[in-house]
Amino acid sequence: MILIIVGPPGAGKGTQAKKLQDDYGIIQLSTGDMLRAKVSSESEIGRRCKEAMESGKLVSDDLIIDIISSRIGEDDCKNGFILDGFPRTTPQAEALDAMLEEKGLGIDHVIEISVDDDAMIQRITGRFSCAQCGAGYHDEFQKPEIEGVCDHCGGKEFTRRSDDNAETVRTRLEEYHQQTAPIITHYGNKGLVESVDGMAPIDSVSKQLNAILG
Ligand code: AMP
Repeated sequence: MILIIVGPPGAGKGTQAKKLQDDYGIIQLSTGDMLRAKVSSESEIGRRCKEAMESGKLVSDDLIIDIISSRIGEDDCKNGFILDGFPRTTPQAEALDAMLEEKGLGIDHVIEISVDDDAMIQRITGRFSCAQCGAGYHDEFQKPEIEGVCDHCGGKEFTRRSDDNAETVRTRLEEYHQQTAPIITHYGNKGLVESVDGMAPIDSVSKQLNAILG
């Protein structure tokens, strides 16, 4: 199964993609995670992306298309994959269509997680994650059961994304509306888009997704 999850920053794409990865045994490919790993390793690509990412802008289409094109050829993508954060522009969507067509593959579902912009700013600016296992938390909505200790692995160090601040989030939302929203029309014209209500609690969003995927 090949699945695309689309939604503004903070909509819960990563959370839902991770759950689907566990439930359906298909791998989550998050371009944001891939780029953050490149920035942390101070690779050449990382250096090129850092500035755009920190200001909330998108990195170049060519670069991200190259990354995805080689990643989906790897062995762990043989049973399908969940694209989380890609495509984010119409040229990326067109490049993906061509890549898949060349491999004789097709997209099964495009899931749009729809949410409210103001709520997103509050959601994103409060989020943090365990430095050890990556489990996600929120200052208000999802605190660890014991303050300062990860519920999942007992880790005591937490991190916040440097682009999760109010100013950068506004730029990221603008980028979403201007550059990414058109891909919903692109896939809508192919009859592939289904929407879920991303303002609902996490479990309820998962149920909506499971009902679509069967
Ligand atoms: P995310 O973790 O998906 O919110 O992505 C974090 C940042 O990585 C974005 O704000 C962009 O700067 C960059 N990024 C991730 N995916 C893409 C993409 N498909 N195209 C361009 N930039 C991307």
